[in-house]
Amino acid sequence: MKLTKIGKIILLLIIIVIGAIIVVLINTRKNSKNIHVIESNEFLDIKIDYNKTGNKKLDNEIINYVEEKRKSFIEIVDKAGSTETSKYNFVLSAQNNQQKDIEFVHLLSFAYTGGAHYVREDKTYVYDLKSQQYLTLKDFLIEGNFEKLKPIILEYIYEYGEKNEINLMEDWVNRGTEYENNNYEHFYLNDNGLNIIFVPYQIASWADGEIKITIPYYKLEKILKEEYLIKEENEDNNSPTNPNKRDLEKYKDKKLIAFTFDDGPNTSTTSRLLDGIKEFDARVTFFVLGSRVESHSDVLKRAYEEGNLIGTHTYNHLNLLLLSDNRVLEEINDSKEAIKNIIGNYPTYLRPPYGNINEHIKGLANMYIINWDVDTEDWKLKNRDLIKDKILEDAHDGAIVLLHDIYTESVEGTLLAMKELEKQNYAFVTVEEMVQLRGVNLDYETTYYNFRGK
Ligand code: ZN
Repeated sequence: MKLTKIGKIILLLIIIVIGAIIVVLINTRKNSKNIHVIESNEFLDIKIDYNKTGNKKLDNEIINYVEEKRKSFIEIVDKAGSTETSKYNFVLSAQNNQQKDIEFVHLLSFAYTGGAHYVREDKTYVYDLKSQQYLTLKDFLIEGNFEKLKPIILEYIYEYGEKNEINLMEDWVNRGTEYENNNYEHFYLNDNGLNIIFVPYQIASWADGEIKITIPYYKLEKILKEEYLIKEENEDNNSPTNPNKRDLEKYKDKKLIAFTFDDGPNTSTTSRLLDGIKEFDARVTFFVLGSRVESHSDVLKRAYEEGNLIGTHTYNHLNLLLLSDNRVLEEINDSKEAIKNIIGNYPTYLRPPYGNINEHIKGLANMYIINWDVDTEDWKLKNRDLIKDKILEDAHDGAIVLLHDIYTESVEGTLLAMKELEKQNYAFVTVEEMVQLRGVNLDYETTYYNFRGK
């Protein structure tokens, strides 16, 4: 097809007009959301970038803050006159996060007005779009719960220090993390958890820069107010087809026993147990050692997938009462990580090694503490019939039985006992199932030894 000259001109014009419209559209969109300021002359450079939130009150506040910073920078430069070395420089950027109805805006500016280094300034707005109020960290916590949050904060600070090879000094860290609002001005929630920024010089030297920690939500249960928590549940945990959960209705009128197995997993003996309990429609609880889960990962995975409860027995089986706080947290958290790496979920139940626990360690752990009220002493008996007899002797409704699935005799003794107990109208449930059937609301302060019926 041949176009006439006029045709070509018209086509070209159309293209130009469309192009111009696109440019205008892009620009207006940019202008409505993004504030982008560049000023540059022979003395100074200014670069400002931030987004409007769409909330008038908050945006005005931010605009005023930025303008004030810009003006005071220019004033200082004007007074100082020309500099022979570096140009004066001002850079401001922002990070926005919105979680639920809360807008978090963190403004970060660096001003160079001579001297050895930049002056950094942080400003955070935490704004509730619903109530139109500014919030502080305390507003997000269940009342009086900063004391519970503090050890977790410390744990993550020291972890950050280790990763980044920062030599943290305890005095300094303690001072900079005390609960005064100006120690916790800079924080936000996002999908990963609670993020806290400690500005340079707050808990570490200027040269070490900011220290930023992210505390995942699973650590914040019963600390953060319920409405701000994001539960990290497996998506299909609630679906009825999930093989991990079973209908508990049919166990309602039965006597209940929770068999618990410590110190594993162990590929051969744990597998034998998993095979054996199928005959009794049984589910059990494993308190596993973090140090073992990787080398016995397949059987752990199987145990979990077949609906048994996986709790932690810490990483190295040390007496928690003899460890420093940081070591206690390591023992617990490393095991949780190791378990999560295999089964995809963090455990929430803890059996302390030797059953040793106190109020202080409970405060650090933030887990459900499950001990036992039937001690089979299986590791001493080492005989399946004696272990069976011991279980039968002490069995009662709501009992939690202590065993170790690393021994063949313990596994076989359990299976022999199940055969007898089944005839006595017992059902074999996990600790979690027992909790549900008994309608207990667990907390982190109690040590549970059994769940007797009412
Ligand atoms: Zn143990």
